[in-house]
Amino acid sequence: MYDLHTHTILSDGELLPTELVRRAAVLGYDTLAITDHADASNLAGLVESVAGVRDSAECYGVELLVGVELTHVPPSLIPALARDAKRRGADIVVVHGETVVEPVAPGTNHAACTCEYVDVLAHPGFIEVEDARIAAERGMALEITSRGGHNRTNGHVVRVAREAGCLLTVDSDTHAPSDLMSKEARRAVALGAGLTEAESRKALFLDINRILQK
Ligand SMILES: [Zn+2]
Ligand SMILES: [Zn+2]
Repeated sequence: MYDLHTHTILSDGELLPTELVRRAAVLGYDTLAITDHADASNLAGLVESVAGVRDSAECYGVELLVGVELTHVPPSLIPALARDAKRRGADIVVVHGETVVEPVAPGTNHAACTCEYVDVLAHPGFIEVEDARIAAERGMALEITSRGGHNRTNGHVVRVAREAGCLLTVDSDTHAPSDLMSKEARRAVALGAGLTEAESRKALFLDINRILQK
């Protein structure tokens, strides 16, 4: 099991990185990305801080992906900041997509889908199929989310991803301990978003390296 979108006290989450990793390990996760909210003010510190718990994650048997979620960054500045994150050693860059419950700047989805340093577009709201096609060509993933509010458009995201042939991830966007999903909850989110059994399996057991080594 993987979760590619989680938050800690390094931004607006409730848990220390190590406790988040421990709780994920107990639930059976193999791979966990810590992707705190980032902009130009805090990106460098986040990458450095999360990298500091790599040893702890290894002790608990979890592959830790050091990440950031570029959040409300102006679309024109996303490419440079995503590149900076990777250059500083981030394993994964998530972009906070155009969810319908926040005033995310129009063009954010497009900037993420066209940027070679972005791996996952989180909660992309009413993403357009043209952008999903670009994402598909690049091998990046669109996100199905369990998070209340952001999850309103999961059905649309599934339809567009299917049409574009895009990879999908199923993530929690965890902020509090109770947000981490059990195996059953992940399956319910995937099927509830409208994926077939076969599509659900593909999304839930996605080889993360396919996204990261695109
Ligand atoms: Zn948050
Ligand atoms: Zn998030």
